[in-house]
Amino acid sequence: MKIYFNGNIDLLKEEIKKILGNVKISYDNGFISVDRFKHGEIYNKLPQIENISSVKKIIIENRELCPLAYKKNYYFKSPLNTYRKFIIAGPCVITDFEEFKKDAVILSETGADAIRAPIFKPRSSPYGWEGFGESGIKRLREIKKIIKKTFVGEVLDPRLIDKVESIFDIIQIGARNMKNYVLLKEAGISKKPVLLKRQPGSSLREVLYSVEYLLKYGTDKIIICERGDNLSDGIPSINTEIIKKIKKEIKIPVISDISHSAKNRKFVEIFARKTKNISDGFMVEVSSRPELSPIDTKQIISIDDFKNIIRFIKW
Ligand code: PEP
Ligand code: MN
Repeated sequence: MKIYFNGNIDLLKEEIKKILGNVKISYDNGFISVDRFKHGEIYNKLPQIENISSVKKIIIENRELCPLAYKKNYYFKSPLNTYRKFIIAGPCVITDFEEFKKDAVILSETGADAIRAPIFKPRSSPYGWEGFGESGIKRLREIKKIIKKTFVGEVLDPRLIDKVESIFDIIQIGARNMKNYVLLKEAGISKKPVLLKRQPGSSLREVLYSVEYLLKYGTDKIIICERGDNLSDGIPSINTEIIKKIKKEIKIPVISDISHSAKNRKFVEIFARKTKNISDGFMVEVSSRPELSPIDTKQIISIDDFKNIIRFIKW
């Protein structure tokens, strides 16, 4: 951590030691370097350091704030091999279990590595259909037993994490919930793999804080998913810079959601091309009858389109 200051250096050192205890402080050209403090826990002390009147600016590294995120390589092989390009495909929301089952079989045979199996949907309007919810768990469990594939599903309510144990191999934390710290804690405690979607507009540091929550509470399999900077205004966007930045900083798989970023099936392949060389995998919304989906209808691609995209992505 570097602290730029003006004023008396000895007084500043004294004040910092009062706050941080026995840390190493050295003078550099115009700033002081502070080392040997507890990474992560330093977060608690920063406001008091900022409050010292001679302190002008603090520069602190992400690794000093989120030490677990930087600690090791978090790529994993199960329930999904994240060391090679992988694809998570399926409907925006399950509307018909029979159709979902049929589509899941085709998608698996076509090369999807995991299936989107959403029964809980966050809706912008309180009148929106929220999926089958808890009442869909039993049926989804039966289908999962037959399909024998990795299922990915969003969970909105931390109290339901235990209940989805048997249906979701990977818990999705949606863009709206990237900063829902109660949900992050509970997901961490469950030790389940988590797919964490980046909240539109959030910075690298904000993503890292959420990752750190999951790691601190017990998860060690995380996939970060970039899904663009616009939530539901119809404007296509994907933030390739943030994908590159995350991958440069930490060793956690990063995928691109080429559906919620594209917002229109016309652009899904373009977004796949845009991110093919920088992301570890893809999430895509596919269904045999996209026109029947009550949500994101325009962006869901057909199984035929999926076959073309997967050919291009994987080979
Ligand atoms: C989703 O993937 O089902 C979803 C709701 O996306 P997001 O959280 O990125 O909006
Ligand atoms: Mn959707």
